Amino acid sequence: MASVSYPFDAPVSQVLFDRAAVVTPGGVNSPVRAFRAVGGTPRFMVSGTGPYLTDADGREYVDLVCSWGPMILGHAHPEVIAAVQEAVARGTSFGTPGEGEVALAEEIVARVEPVEQVRLVSSGTEATMSAIRLARGFTGRAKVIKFAGCYHGHVDALLAAAGSGVATFGLPDTPGVTGASAADTIVLPYNDLEAVHEAFHAHPGEIACVITEASPGNMGVVPPLPGFNQGLKDACAKNGALFISDEVMTGFRTSKAGWFGVDGVKPDLMTFGKVMGGGFPAAAFGGRADVMAHLAPAGPVYQAGTLSGNPVATAAGLAQLRLLDDAAYAKVDAVAAEIGSLVGEALSKEGVTHRLQTASNMFSVFFTGREVRNYDDARAQESFRFNAFFHSMLSQGVYLPPSAFESWFVSTAHDEAAVERIAAALPAAARAAAEATEEGAK
Ligand code: PLP
Repeated sequence: MASVSYPFDAPVSQVLFDRAAVVTPGGVNSPVRAFRAVGGTPRFMVSGTGPYLTDADGREYVDLVCSWGPMILGHAHPEVIAAVQEAVARGTSFGTPGEGEVALAEEIVARVEPVEQVRLVSSGTEATMSAIRLARGFTGRAKVIKFAGCYHGHVDALLAAAGSGVATFGLPDTPGVTGASAADTIVLPYNDLEAVHEAFHAHPGEIACVITEASPGNMGVVPPLPGFNQGLKDACAKNGALFISDEVMTGFRTSKAGWFGVDGVKPDLMTFGKVMGGGFPAAAFGGRADVMAHLAPAGPVYQAGTLSGNPVATAAGLAQLRLLDDAAYAKVDAVAAEIGSLVGEALSKEGVTHRLQTASNMFSVFFTGREVRNYDDARAQESFRFNAFFHSMLSQGVYLPPSAFESWFVSTAHDEAAVERIAAALPAAARAAAEATEEGAK
C-alpha cells in the first residue's frame, strides 16, 4: 500500500493513531482495525447511536461493521444501556456466582436445542480454545480438523490457515506458534467432505474433533454447501470424534438459534460470543451434558476465568437477547437483503465483476466472477477493487469492514434513512471499483 496516498481527511484520528503507534504495536489492539489492507488512516470512533458511528473528527458514518457482529440492535440501544447502568450501579465484578449468569445460561439453553449445558467465558477465542481442550479431554485423542479460511480466534492450534486478520494480512503461519502445538491440527479445504473422509481414514482413532464455522464469515461470507455440515456431523459420529460448530459470529445473529436455527444440524459442542455479550466481553461454549460433565469442577478438564460471567456483561447480553424476537430477525434480514441488492445493482451498472454471497443477514461482496466455496476461491478475487470501493464509501460516510475478507453486518437500527445514505454513496464507489487497477493498489 506504501505508494498510495489517501485524502488526509481525518486529522484528529491521525494524531490519535500516531500517539497509539508509540505505545501499542501497530497502533491498534486488534490487527484489522489498522486499515493496513486498505491503506489510509483508521478512524478513531468516539460514539455510536443506532446505525451510526461518529469519529474523532466529528464525521458520522453509517456503520456496516457493527463491532464485527455484536451490535445487532444498533449502538447504544436504550434498553441495553439501561440494563448495563442498572447492573453497574450494583458493582462491576464479584468473583462469585450470580443470578445474571444463570439467567444468561438459561436463555442460551432455551434458544439452542443442542446446548444442554453451557460455560460462560470472556471471548470467542477462549470459547473455542476451551471447547477443543474439552473435546481432547473427553475423547482422549489429540488431533483436530479445521478448515482453511475459518477463523476461530487466536488459539495457537487453530491459527493455521485461518481467515479474518490472518487472511487480510496473508500470513501463512504465525511466528510464536510452535510446531508442537500446530502438529495436531489438520487443515482441510472448506466444503470438501471427501477431504474429511480421507483425513479420518489416514488417522484412525486419533481425531478428537472437527471444528468449523457454522457458516463461515471470516473469509468473506462462504456458506456451507447443502449437506456439508450434516456430512461433518456424520463423519464425526462414525469415527468417535466430536463435531464442534463455532457460532461465535452466527450465534443469535443468523436466527434466534443462530445457524443451528437455519440448518438444524446438531453439533456435540458449540461456541458463542459477539451478539450474546451485547457489546461486552462475554462468550460461551456448551453442548451435550455428558461431554460438558467432563469440565471442572464437575469433571477433570480444567477451565476457569476471573471475569467469566461478569455481571455487567451478562446483563448487557441478556438484555440484548431478550429483545431479539422473530420480528427483530425479520427486520435485520430484510435490511441486509435490501443493502445487498443495492450494492449488487450499483456494481453491475458499472460492469464490475462481482459476487454477492449471503448467509441469512450476513453478506459480503467478492470481486470475482466465480462462486466462492472455499478460501482459495476467496483469495482469487480482485481485492484491489474492494480497496477502492471501501475508500469511496468511507469518504462518503459509510463504514465498511476494512478488508475484502470480512462479513458485513447490519442491525435492527438500520432504517430507511441509513439505507438511503448507503444508496447515495454506491454509484461513486462502484465507479471507483470499476476504475481501480492492481498497479494502483501497490
Ligand atoms: N470464532 C469466530 C467464528 C469468530 O468470528 C471469532 C472472531 O471474530 C472468534 C471465534 C474469536 O472471537 P474473539 O475475537 O471474541 O476472541
